[in-house]
Amino acid sequence: MKALSLAIDAYHALTPEVRERIVQTVRTRLQEPPYRLLSPEHLRTLATLETAGPPVVSLYLQLTPERRVGRAWQSAFSALTHRVSQAMDEAARTSINADLQDVQRALERQLPELGRGAAFYACRERGIWRQIALPIPLPDRIQIGSRPYLRPLLRSWGRSDRMLLAVLSREQSRFLVSHLGAVEEIYRVKGQRIRGLLTDRVPRDRRSALANQLMRDEAKALASMAEIIGREFETSHILLCAPPDMSAAFRDHLSKNVQSRLGMFEASVHASPAEIGAAVATVQEQLKAREERQLVDRLREASPVAVSTGVQETLDCLSEGRVLTLVADDTYAARGWHCRQCGSLFEVTPSKCPVCREADLEPVDDLLEAALQQALECRAQIAFVRDPACRSALTQKAPLQALLRY
Ligand SMILES: [Zn+2]
Repeated sequence: MKALSLAIDAYHALTPEVRERIVQTVRTRLQEPPYRLLSPEHLRTLATLETAGPPVVSLYLQLTPERRVGRAWQSAFSALTHRVSQAMDEAARTSINADLQDVQRALERQLPELGRGAAFYACRERGIWRQIALPIPLPDRIQIGSRPYLRPLLRSWGRSDRMLLAVLSREQSRFLVSHLGAVEEIYRVKGQRIRGLLTDRVPRDRRSALANQLMRDEAKALASMAEIIGREFETSHILLCAPPDMSAAFRDHLSKNVQSRLGMFEASVHASPAEIGAAVATVQEQLKAREERQLVDRLREASPVAVSTGVQETLDCLSEGRVLTLVADDTYAARGWHCRQCGSLFEVTPSKCPVCREADLEPVDDLLEAALQQALECRAQIAFVRDPACRSALTQKAPLQALLRY
C-alpha cells in the first residue's frame, strides 16, 4: 500500500494547517483495514471500550512460514473457531459467527506480509473492527467477551519497542515506524525542485547560498514532521539516514529531548520497508540494550521510596495507581490470583483479599499479562527487559519492578 505523500518546499510551508493535516491523515491511515500497526492511542481506546451489547471476538493466529504456504493457516483457524460455537445462546452465536466469517474473509483476502501473526478484534453489531500484524509470535487463541482481549498483545508493547525511521534525501523523504522489527511506511514527502527555483534571474554567485537556505528550510519542516509522527506513535527513538548536510540541518531543528534519542543508519531512499527494517536492526538492538541497562541502573540506584523492587509490592503499587513505569523481565511467567471485587493481583493466594476483605478470588494463568493490563488501564508505561545480562541484573531482586509516581 502506498504511503501518504505531501510536498513541502518554498511554496508549501509547514503552516499550522498543514501540521494539523499531517496529524489527521496519519490518524486516518491507521483506521484503514489491512494489517496496520496499532498506535498507542488506538490500543488505549480498545482497552476502554464500553462493555454493553453483543460480544467482541478476539482472535490471535500465528503465521509461521508453514502456515503461509497455500491456505495452511485454515486448519488452525478452523480448530480455533470450532471450540467456540457450542456453549452459547442463539443470539450470541449468530453474532460471533458473523464476526468469524469477517475474520476468515480478511485472512483469505490477504495475509500480513510482515510479522509473526495476526490479531483481530471484531464485533459487527457494535462497529468494532481491528486487524493488526503481530510483531512477535503469540499463541493461537480465541476469546469471546464484552471487551477486546488485549492481554497477549501487551507483551509487544514496551516503550522501546516502537521507533521512528527517517530516510531523507533531496528527492524525497520517508518516515516509517518499526514495531519490534515489523516496519510500516507512514509518510512520504516530495523534495523541492531546487533547479527549477534557481532560474537565470538568480545571480550565479547567489545560487549556492540560496540552495543551501532551501535545504535548511526543508530540513526544518521534516524535523517538525518527525516530531509529530513520533508523538502520534509514542516512539522511543528516531533513527536517521540522510546525506551529511541534510542530516546536520535536520538534527539542529529537533528538540533537545529527541536529539538525545537519535541513532544513525544507512539505507537507500528507494529501499522497501523490509530492507529498511533489516538495515536498522543492529542499531535498534544496541539502543534497546542501552535503554534497558539505564533502566536497570535507575531501579537499583533510586531512593527506595521511588521504586518497588518486589513482585507483590509492585502488584500492590499497580492497584493503587502509583506506577509510572512497569518494568518486566520478558521471560517472567507465573500464575497468580485476582480479586474480582477490587481488581488487586496476588502472587500467592490469600484466604481473603487484604485490600477489600472479600473472599472473591480467581486464579489467573499469566500474572504478567494481568499486570500489563492494569498498567495500560492506569496509563503507566511498560518496559520489557530482554537483554540477557540486563535480565539477570533485574531478577536479582525481582522479575517485576516499577518506577513510582509517588
Ligand atoms: Zn479485593
